[in-house]
Amino acid sequence: MRKLAVLGSTGSIGRGVLEVVDLFRDRFTVEALAAGGNVALLQRQIDRFSPRKVSVRSRREAERLKAERPHLEVLWGEEGLVALASAEEVDLVVIAVVGAVGLRPTLAALQEGKRVALATKEVMVMAGEWVMRRAEERGVEIVPVDSEHSALFQALGGKRKAEAIRRLILTASGGPFYHLPVEEMQRAGPDQALRHPVWKMGPKISVDSATLMNKGLEVIEARWLFDLPPERIEVLIHPQGIVHGMVEFVDGSVIAQMSRPDMKIPIAYALSYPERLPLPYPVLDLHRSGPLTFHPPDLERFPALRLAREALEAGGTMPAVLNAADEIAVEAFLKGRIPLGKVVEVVRRVLERHTWRPLSGVEEVLEADRWAREEARKVLEGIR
Ligand code: MG
Repeated sequence: MRKLAVLGSTGSIGRGVLEVVDLFRDRFTVEALAAGGNVALLQRQIDRFSPRKVSVRSRREAERLKAERPHLEVLWGEEGLVALASAEEVDLVVIAVVGAVGLRPTLAALQEGKRVALATKEVMVMAGEWVMRRAEERGVEIVPVDSEHSALFQALGGKRKAEAIRRLILTASGGPFYHLPVEEMQRAGPDQALRHPVWKMGPKISVDSATLMNKGLEVIEARWLFDLPPERIEVLIHPQGIVHGMVEFVDGSVIAQMSRPDMKIPIAYALSYPERLPLPYPVLDLHRSGPLTFHPPDLERFPALRLAREALEAGGTMPAVLNAADEIAVEAFLKGRIPLGKVVEVVRRVLERHTWRPLSGVEEVLEADRWAREEARKVLEGIR
């Protein structure tokens, strides 16, 4: 029996996690749930999975929930997330919150020797080097939930063996605007960007997929997760979304992972690794899927990819700044304040204004994160 804490249980990944848990009640129990805004859904999840502990965003929400459910331990805020991630009764922590708030709970879970199923790629983008070091020191595993990284992890048989790897290849669908002229894509608004052709995802990541910033963040995530230099991590556009990642070995062999584009597949693997669960979903039918195509991304169309690589190359606080500025710019885009083309421009300007600092502690990363958010808001003021 694996005992789970699911942080971010009402988001797209969190809901998928609970759907898989519900199918395999004999293998998993839910000890703790944490959610952000959607308390109504959290309430339904509490009824269904009976966790002992939950955490919500604010003290007020916590007090309200506690009044309704006096038997439940109710926590709140970042401290609540950390407490859930390090709770004694938990042995697998699913980190599926949005953004920087995932960092402390991830470190806390690793510190306590708990396996982490990581969906929040921002954690790796901001502080991947330490997070991996902490995992190594404590002898615990981080199993990626991100489909591309799950694919690579699976192709590697769960082991990191850098000396045998020549290249890692991450695939990208190209997003909803892939066939539009660049100018038209840059003028696009939120309604269009949220219609992803292949994956069903939350709003932030859908926008990041349209700009390919998501893939840039994934290159950074892969760099730390698999301990490989950035120049050996490549991106290929693969519109069908069937091959999720490939590992090219030094002997020229390439092992790819394929599946229907359904996040529940990497989610289930992260929950059950190293075992596999018999999932009751439709299987991949290559005969029907048609030809699989691959081609390199156009960096003029997707400047975010270059920007992310530059931030990774610069290192230190730069990736955290990239990530935070992007969150604010995407938020402005989703509110209809800026067109898609401006999202990456805002990120670029914030990176230009940032004074590079080495990564020396959690406080520094979070400080760079705060700075970048504020700076991005200033840049946005200038645009309006
Ligand atoms: Mg992904």
